[in-house]
Amino acid sequence: MDNCIFCKIIKGELPSEKFYEDDLMIVIADVNPRAKKHYLAIPKRHYKLFSEMTDEDADILGKCVRKIAELAPSLGLENGYRVIVNQGDDAEQTVPHLHLHLIGGQKLTLGSYVTDEK
Ligand code: AMP
Ligand code: ZN
Repeated sequence: MDNCIFCKIIKGELPSEKFYEDDLMIVIADVNPRAKKHYLAIPKRHYKLFSEMTDEDADILGKCVRKIAELAPSLGLENGYRVIVNQGDDAEQTVPHLHLHLIGGQKLTLGSYVTDEK
């Protein structure tokens, strides 16, 4: 996708602090961390929403999740972490390329990643 910042990061056209890469995904630091540890796990294929996933995308995402579990201790997430996937406008998804926020390195209250407004 031409105008997608995550596709550009994946292609090496934009810089990132990269912690892991394989043929399916990258794991980078979020530029605006909301906790002591805040990573983005980004499957390489461009799509925005779960509703757009193919069967192959579902297989890939499963593999990515297993890899995340394997990487967690080396990312400083050995005591647990929160996974957040924002989907669409109400969730304020700002980058239209599916990504998993991996958040941890500290105790997380629910309020550390949800709005208090009802
Ligand atoms: P979301 O709001 O779920 O779409 O999350 C997008 C995330 O990408 C935000 O947490 C941003 O801080 C993060 N972000 C935006 N641009 C970059 C970038 N160039 N490198 C790393 N993280 C980024
Ligand atoms: Zn993209």
